[in-house]
Amino acid sequence: MCYSLTMCDKTITSGLRNHGFFSEVVSTAISDAPLKGFKMRAALTIILLFLAACGGGPGSGVGADGLPGLPNNGEGIGGGNGGGGGIGDGGDTPSLPQPPAPPDGNGGGNGGGNGGGGGGDDGTGFGGDDGTVVIVPGASGRTSIGFGGTTDPDGAARNEIGVALTTSFQVVVVVPNNINLATVQLVDPDGNLVLSGADNPIKTSGVLLGTGVNTLAYPSKGDDLGVVDGAYDQTLFIQAGSLPYDATAIAKRDLNPNVGVLLVNLFLVGDEAQKDSTRTVIDGAIALWRQIYDQIGITLDIQIFDVSSDSGVLPIPFPGSDFYLNQAGEPGARRIALNMYVGETISADTTDVPGNELPVLGVASAIPGPAIPTPQSAVAISISQHQGPDGLFSQEESDVLGETMAHEGGHYLGLFHPVETNFADVDPLDDTPECTSFQDCIDKGVGSNNMFPTPLPGLTQRALTLNQGQVVNLQVLVD
Ligand SMILES: [Zn+2]
Repeated sequence: MCYSLTMCDKTITSGLRNHGFFSEVVSTAISDAPLKGFKMRAALTIILLFLAACGGGPGSGVGADGLPGLPNNGEGIGGGNGGGGGIGDGGDTPSLPQPPAPPDGNGGGNGGGNGGGGGGDDGTGFGGDDGTVVIVPGASGRTSIGFGGTTDPDGAARNEIGVALTTSFQVVVVVPNNINLATVQLVDPDGNLVLSGADNPIKTSGVLLGTGVNTLAYPSKGDDLGVVDGAYDQTLFIQAGSLPYDATAIAKRDLNPNVGVLLVNLFLVGDEAQKDSTRTVIDGAIALWRQIYDQIGITLDIQIFDVSSDSGVLPIPFPGSDFYLNQAGEPGARRIALNMYVGETISADTTDVPGNELPVLGVASAIPGPAIPTPQSAVAISISQHQGPDGLFSQEESDVLGETMAHEGGHYLGLFHPVETNFADVDPLDDTPECTSFQDCIDKGVGSNNMFPTPLPGLTQRALTLNQGQVVNLQVLVD
């Protein structure tokens, strides 16, 4: 069952990615091979629900394209090219309302919400409680402001985001974490449809139906139309009928868009992450992460926090956990920052209870992720998945840890995998070549890209392209 044709067109893409996600997880579980085999880094997330809503996309096989040295037992997961298994049947999903007419109406919420507020690092703003906000960053800096709105009974809402002198902006909408929501579209002040769930490939996971938090960032890539002064019109769908919601807009004016500083709050969770020997490995991984981001003009400003935890288990970052919201509010934690968590394992659920491990190297909550503290403001990194069964870091495993930090950070900063492991779904960038098998990806250099979805034996993955650098530098998280 589909929300609408438009949404389901979009699902073809997202469904595949979703399927890839599960394939990756399962293939990790069944095969443990060189370099700890096929350990996956996961990002996509929100897509789960999307597929549930629209019922299944084509399957994708992992393991069909063998790579020398990688496990290839011929057991494709997810079965070939059929219109295979979705997650659930989404049976009683209500239909998605058509987007309201373009920005001439009153649109938006009808009051309510918890809007207002303000503040920011450098700039001015005004937030109303009717889904409107005006935000103007200072001469060179960022500002953020809270506002709110209320959906109509069909779950639709519009935010009018007034900007001036702005290079890029992000809107984060937060609802209770059992409620689904998506950005349906974004229209610029000149009436151009600049982001939509119908984009193929999609440019942000914000157009997919997720749970609890929606993050919309614009521009999403270097050749998008630049931000112009005026009101941007965001159409939201919140699957809860009439509901007040909280939102925050963050805008930046960037006088030097090719370089920037990224603030990182790095939380070491539990005993394993805080052991001296592990700290040494983490220091080395951070050095490699710095090196990878240096090539795209990004300087990391990292602050480390030790977090006690009985289990060292990180909740899965989606649909999110108050653990992440609370940590990001700790004294000393910078507010507009990338929050990265290194723990012993990552849980497949939102608890820190051991025993339900998600067998992935790392997970980012969204593409891009929210720039401010929310229950989903997290990148989670697993120590045990990097160490492998012997529980120790080899040099190669230590290096992969650094590559994973850069990779998951890259998702949080707006980067998709250049190609998924179905070799069909690709990112929206021009300078990340498409490839059709692991070997083809290696031959074309994509296998060495930091955003390639899996580590590959004997290959370092440290390259980022010009277009990838542009995406990262556009983010409001980068000053
Ligand atoms: Zn990834």
